[in-house]
Amino acid sequence: PRADSLDAHGNHADARWPRQNSLSMKEWDIPYDELKLFETIGTGRFGTVYRGSWHGAVAVKLLHVHSLSDHGVPLDTFKHEVATFRKTRHENLVLFMGACMKPPRLAIVTSLCKGMTLYTHIHIRKDKFNANRSVIIAQQISQGMGYLHARGIIHKDLKTKNIFLENGKVVITDFGLFSVTKLCFGNNARGDSLGIPPGWLCYLAAELVRALRPHASLHLPFSKATDVYAFGTVWYELLCGEYPFKGQPPEAIIWQVGKGVKQSLANMQASRDIKDILMLCWSYRASERPDFPSLLITLQKLPRKRLARSPSHPVHLSRSADS
Ligand code: ATP
Repeated sequence: PRADSLDAHGNHADARWPRQNSLSMKEWDIPYDELKLFETIGTGRFGTVYRGSWHGAVAVKLLHVHSLSDHGVPLDTFKHEVATFRKTRHENLVLFMGACMKPPRLAIVTSLCKGMTLYTHIHIRKDKFNANRSVIIAQQISQGMGYLHARGIIHKDLKTKNIFLENGKVVITDFGLFSVTKLCFGNNARGDSLGIPPGWLCYLAAELVRALRPHASLHLPFSKATDVYAFGTVWYELLCGEYPFKGQPPEAIIWQVGKGVKQSLANMQASRDIKDILMLCWSYRASERPDFPSLLITLQKLPRKRLARSPSHPVHLSRSADS
């Protein structure tokens, strides 16, 4: 009988699986010539994202292949990550459409996200999200992340730059591609000697920070619990409009997080329940961090602040309550 057991990556452990896998992979193989590339949207550490067209508007992440091979990332790693990517279908996750897998043309094609990233909203435009809106956003992130984890996929790079807001709907991008797109920046001039790009450190749980070594991010112990830690930082950014440990040098952050010291919440204007979520997600011990389904339940139970008076709430009563 066909073994249906899944390995750590959520793939079938059946010995016959690789052959089937490579066959079905063809369905997702997009011939490079079929893609139309327009302007650059942005350049990340390992690839450039273009606005493109393939049966409609798409985003094309073109990987810098020479840098992959220069850093010893085999084509198989790329194919493996693409195989992971194509298993995802969820409202709050970017739609994977296919990939170009013939070197030197390696590209990942996804739906084009409209709207802006949470990073742009929070850190560039300085938009303020009230508690109710933050809760709704956090719920959607938890839903998307809960789904990923249920499929055995660890995001490894959850951050506000990878979360789009499209007319109020959360769309998470860039999941599971960490090994091919992020791992080889150790000697990148954009990072420091530990290969830490700005704005990355505050998403790293204590066990990741403690495992940081120059040029060795390939072996960082990412887990579902490290994704939950990163979610905690996103939650903090939503509520406070800035990164935790703001303005502190990397060494200071590494020392504190590695020892279990958290960003103080003393000056934060928020209810106990909201702060408790932060503290739980940032727990020093991975085993004490909640999982996304339980985070979702906690978020759903948070009392909503009544922003507008509803018709069922008579005005004279509210007045008397106010006075
Ligand atoms: P890093 O490499 O440090 O993670 P990054 O997240 O900015 O940086 P990329 O993920 O390569 O790098 O993204 C480059 C740019 O493309 C970003 O501005 C990102 O918001 C944008 N982008 C990525 N995916 C999409 C998409 N599906 N739709 C629209 N824009 C996208």
